Amino acid sequence: MSNGLIPNTSKEDFWKKVLTELSFVTDKINLKTISAALKIEEISKDSIKLSCTNAFHKSSLEKNLNIIEKCVNKVSEKKLEIEVIIRSPLPDDKNTILDMGPLFDPSKNKKISTEEKQKEAGLYPKYTFDNFIIGDNNRIPYSIAQKVAAQPGVAYTPVFLHSGVGLGKTHLIQAIGNKIIQTKPGVKVLYTTGEAFTNELIEAIQSSKGKGGKYTSNNFRKKYRNVDVLLIDDIQFIIGKGATQEEFFHTFNTLFMAEKQIVITSDRPPKDFNNLAGRLTSRFSSGMIIDIQPPSFETRSAILRSRRDKNKDNIDNKVIDFIAENITSNIRELEGAYIQVVNASIAENQQITVEYAARQLKKVISQKDTKPVNMNQILKAICNYYSVKMSDIKGERRTKDIVIPRQIAMYLIKDLTNTPFMTIGEFLGGRDHSTIMYGAEKIEKDLVYTPKIKQDITNVKQIIYQN
Ligand code: ADP
Ligand code: MG
Repeated sequence: MSNGLIPNTSKEDFWKKVLTELSFVTDKINLKTISAALKIEEISKDSIKLSCTNAFHKSSLEKNLNIIEKCVNKVSEKKLEIEVIIRSPLPDDKNTILDMGPLFDPSKNKKISTEEKQKEAGLYPKYTFDNFIIGDNNRIPYSIAQKVAAQPGVAYTPVFLHSGVGLGKTHLIQAIGNKIIQTKPGVKVLYTTGEAFTNELIEAIQSSKGKGGKYTSNNFRKKYRNVDVLLIDDIQFIIGKGATQEEFFHTFNTLFMAEKQIVITSDRPPKDFNNLAGRLTSRFSSGMIIDIQPPSFETRSAILRSRRDKNKDNIDNKVIDFIAENITSNIRELEGAYIQVVNASIAENQQITVEYAARQLKKVISQKDTKPVNMNQILKAICNYYSVKMSDIKGERRTKDIVIPRQIAMYLIKDLTNTPFMTIGEFLGGRDHSTIMYGAEKIEKDLVYTPKIKQDITNVKQIIYQN
């Protein structure tokens, strides 16, 4: 039933929107009182009539009239007169709290601690702004992330943050969520990854088709479209997955239109997505696009020093600088190397000197290089990264989006497995050994002159070794 104000909106839906607006400007207890005590009676072109069941409620609600009025006007997009009347109680009055999800459901929300909320939102408390070290490489992303956390949905939305692996995307996007949960209890935050989003959608589609499971497409939509802040990490995972992209597009649009906050991270900028639907690329590009560069030596050293001070590790600056000088690829590896050195010294009961660290680092590097991988694993990782089919890599097509991944396959198989060119040629669809040699050499040169290829190869290697 329409209310004559917003076409096709019932007065209950209108009121629900008002309550959502209220959730941003008032605390949960107040919101609970308002939503439990007030019922919408009537809505017309220039006024709205609310009712409650006793004078005590009426007087306590009148204290809130100002903010209710603001929210009513925001939803109706015009100024409406508000009247509150007292009516006799109805049998279903105790059920008048509208279903606004677990955060607003008092029965499920007796005393949710900040930690529980973080967990429910998919966040890890260890990622905070406080323990994020700022350097020239991440100063701008850091400051934008802080502004987003201070004013979600207002300052910048959507935000698209990209970088190579291990440079702090997950840390920053999670810090945004954690900060909002700590400082704005009424705001609903949800963190997910491109991979989790895809898997959940598949599960939801299957249960909707009656193939078992309780989690339906409706649940899925409700979950993702009902939040105030959606944090999606590693969006590259949905590339090339048609149904997931489509669903994500609608989720994105619903939140975008409602002026909610969206933050996305990815291992590459939107313009580098080959198989992403054009309308998604343009949506991503409509917001703020920022990147994190690899950290300088000073930042790497500062990150390790901060870690040392926090854990009270027995390792001096000279050794820390040595590690920071030698591990330049990314922060995850830097931290990994540091931990290995410290743990080994504890296990072997040895003082950490620069020489000791050097011996340990050698082990780290050689362990990494000797982890055996086969041709199939490499090809799978490449196809995954570039969202291309194996049959296309092995086939005849010569378009750029296939040729580059194909040549990278030639290079990486040679480099990581040392398989003879002829065998690689057979594996890659019966190609000549000279074709493989040419392809591998071409990529070897590109590695020096083309930063994007270098970055892509680092990312692909990361996928190969993490599986
Ligand atoms: P990404 O998501 O870009 O792959 P992560 O956010 O997982 O990278 O970062 C890898 C590791 O490095 C994490 O343990 C993270 O806490 C740490 N890290 C990254 N950047 C910083 C920073 N600026 N200060 C402190 N720790 C950092
Ligand atoms: Mg990450």
